[in-house]
Amino acid sequence: MKKTFKSLLVLLVAAFAFTACGNSDNSNNAEEGKAETKTEEKADKKDNEKAYVGIEMPTKSSQRWIDDGNNLVKQLEDLGYKTDLQYGEDKVENQVAQIENMITKGVDYLVIASIDGSALTDVLQKAADASIKVIAYDRLLMNSENVDYYVTFDNFKVGTLTAQYIVDKLGLSDGEKGPFNMEIFSGSPDDNNALINYQGYMDVLNPYLEDGSLNIVSGQKDFNQTATLRWDGSTAQSRMDNLLSAYYTDETIDAVLSPIDAISLGCISSLKGVGYGTEEKPLPVITGQDANVAGVQSIINGEQTMTIFKDTRLLSDATTKIIEALEKGEEPEVNDTETYDNGVKVVPSNLSDPVAVDKDNYKEQLIDSGYYTEEELK
Ligand code: BGC
Repeated sequence: MKKTFKSLLVLLVAAFAFTACGNSDNSNNAEEGKAETKTEEKADKKDNEKAYVGIEMPTKSSQRWIDDGNNLVKQLEDLGYKTDLQYGEDKVENQVAQIENMITKGVDYLVIASIDGSALTDVLQKAADASIKVIAYDRLLMNSENVDYYVTFDNFKVGTLTAQYIVDKLGLSDGEKGPFNMEIFSGSPDDNNALINYQGYMDVLNPYLEDGSLNIVSGQKDFNQTATLRWDGSTAQSRMDNLLSAYYTDETIDAVLSPIDAISLGCISSLKGVGYGTEEKPLPVITGQDANVAGVQSIINGEQTMTIFKDTRLLSDATTKIIEALEKGEEPEVNDTETYDNGVKVVPSNLSDPVAVDKDNYKEQLIDSGYYTEEELK
């Protein structure tokens, strides 16, 4: 008897919640006949309990993802959401298992920064079957229709800002003809960001490579030749060692296009190992990305030349805004509906702006903005 009363109550609350919410999410679900289960589950939640958000990050080996995870948890929990933060530690199978587990635990949203963007299609189907909304975080989830939104930085602009910095620093934009020697390192071949960054690099570099004022001595120019699996600093360092011994015993390298700070630091070690970093043999121009503490410290010490600052607080704001809008039954705001085609659909995206940072503007960009304290960069 007691049990029947309880189920009746659940049904009544469920019916109320269903009519009260009335958002497009629920009406779509209704067509699929999955809504009732989901709505009942939601009705089981206490009145003051907000949605449950599963946050899946790729690795703790890079500081940015630790910050991303912490920012998201803090911002969402301050607003009353429940969160579950997991790191796949660069192993696709961990990431799949962790996401499956979140689905079983009944999350309402999944925020995913993938390890391999194409490896999650099955688990994303499971998420869709459980009516979970999926937000691709920083890295696009590929080959799946079950991706609702994408929050990221303008990845092409990351590429053009990086390459333009080299062009400007070498004086090429002021008519300097060189020729200057350079090598390119790209990011992980299974990360769509790496490819888009590369397209940005080439958009800027191609005219100078064509007129000969820039010269890639190794001839390794294509995306696949320059890619670095998992963006790994030591893999890049080995490649730099090989390049230096095979192509630069009689040549000087003037610029290294590095796609992230961890790779820049690997290249710097390698360069110092063959005598760069002295007055007679200064380090080349070396780019980066992420404004990691170690990268910025290297800039302050005059080794790495620049980095691309991507204020991760913006991504967590954008993600939270999407979830808040969906919870209110509103259409989330996006600012790009054309660029990010994942092979199956163009994913509505929210793009934030990256900024080039070097010794001249790091204080203004990183300290005055409250991203780091002066202490943290010592
Ligand atoms: C991100 C970079 C990050 C890299 C390696 C990329 O997808 O856009 O910010 O440094 O992954 O973790």
